[in-house]
Amino acid sequence: MAENVLKGKRIMGSSRAPKQVSDLRHCAKKDCETTLSRYNKREFCYAHAPTKFPRLRGRIVAEG
Ligand SMILES: [Zn+2]
Repeated sequence: MAENVLKGKRIMGSSRAPKQVSDLRHCAKKDCETTLSRYNKREFCYAHAPTKFPRLRGRIVAEG
């Protein structure tokens, strides 16, 4: 009894390169067209990202 089994698995599916940024997100700012990376979880771009520092009201900090 010879086993009629084909040996040798054919490699299925070639390793595809990961999709490049397919879903580009834009800054949440209306007039801002800055695109955010899909890896960037922020809603705003760097320029419009809310700062961590609370703005001092009524006080203008002049630097320099
Ligand atoms: Zn922006």
